Amino acid sequence: MERVEACTAGSSPGALEPEEPGGLPWFHDQVVPAGSSSSRVIVHVDLDCFYAQVEMISHPELKGKPLGVQQKYLVVTCNYEARELGVKKLMNVRDAKEKCPQLVLVNGEDLTRYREISYKVTELLEEFSPVVERLGFDENFVDLTEMVEKRLEQLQSDEPSALTVSGHVYGNQPINLHDILHIRLLIGSQIAAEMREAMYNQLGLTGCAGVASNKLLAKLVSGIFKPNQQTLLLPESSQDLIHSLNHIKEMPGIGYKTTKRLEALGISSVRDLQTFSSKILEKELGISVAQRIQKLSFGEDNSPVTPSGPPQSFSEEDSFKKCSSEVEAKNKIEELLASLLNRVCQDGRKPHTIRLIIRRYSSEKHYSRESRQCAIPSHIIQKLGIDARIPSDARPGHVFHSWLMRCEHLGLNVEVSKKATYQDEIS
Ligand SMILES: [Mg+2]
Repeated sequence: MERVEACTAGSSPGALEPEEPGGLPWFHDQVVPAGSSSSRVIVHVDLDCFYAQVEMISHPELKGKPLGVQQKYLVVTCNYEARELGVKKLMNVRDAKEKCPQLVLVNGEDLTRYREISYKVTELLEEFSPVVERLGFDENFVDLTEMVEKRLEQLQSDEPSALTVSGHVYGNQPINLHDILHIRLLIGSQIAAEMREAMYNQLGLTGCAGVASNKLLAKLVSGIFKPNQQTLLLPESSQDLIHSLNHIKEMPGIGYKTTKRLEALGISSVRDLQTFSSKILEKELGISVAQRIQKLSFGEDNSPVTPSGPPQSFSEEDSFKKCSSEVEAKNKIEELLASLLNRVCQDGRKPHTIRLIIRRYSSEKHYSRESRQCAIPSHIIQKLGIDARIPSDARPGHVFHSWLMRCEHLGLNVEVSKKATYQDEIS
């Protein structure tokens, strides 16, 4: 879900001096109702080459080397070392190896670890604001409006010199400290910087952030400076940002099918869409889609940040030299199960499926994981939370015993909900 690399250069964060030292009189004069669309402060957080980062955390020896994450025959993502050597996302493995013979490839077909870390990021962001919406594994929207409001109230007694924008400002637009909308977004940029710092300190992950007044603009602006940077969009620059898109297919919220239908109508640029007859567009695409995407073309997006809620599953896993007997594997499962059950019981929802994941012992460096799963019988689900134990005859080690020999990685995962977790378009 990453966009092309930075297209604006030379922007530098401006240290701001309030024009009226000792107080913030502008703050009281300009009341914008909290929650109205123009006063919202939304941040889009997008992790850098997420799968590659997770792999580098799991295998620190890969740090600094050009690394690609492979799914089937594609390099789905790669670290920045690999990008510098010409490897691109979604490149064929053969082409990538040709471009960069020293490229290290890891198999990324098992999403367990990515999912797990992805939810840790969401949980961390929820500590800042409860209104966090996941978009895939590596992106989150956070509505900071209320938090910004609280900080504004505190500002009356704080040092005005705290008003420094964090990161870049799109188009290098100067901040007007007499404009309450600017101030709100500026505070949002400070919170975004705190979020990124927490992600790095607590999880070892870097990412980009975009701060703007709605989801569309926040998502668009977060990719302007990459990697590990953040960009603030002021309202006056939103048209510049929108028109920097080369094609409507780059507009979040306009998917593949809609793009095809728009192209058939002769619409390819944002300007085409802005100026196209609303009547005809409504006739062709239906009123609601037509109105929504035409608004998007002007940078307008009133869609709320909808909290994604708790994770759909829980995982625990561990790697070791090898397990060469079924007994060893079962002992390892017991260990994992204990901490997994703790988490499930704390969550309070009843799990319905348990999955066991193994990676076999092998002298080769990279190889894939295998998994088996089964439904958790209802009489066991009833017992959960009472003594937090699964009877031995229903433990995954028992069900899958012949398959457990000589593994060097074990994972356990329970599903608590079947809801889909991936959302392709902003709806
Ligand atoms: Mg990303």
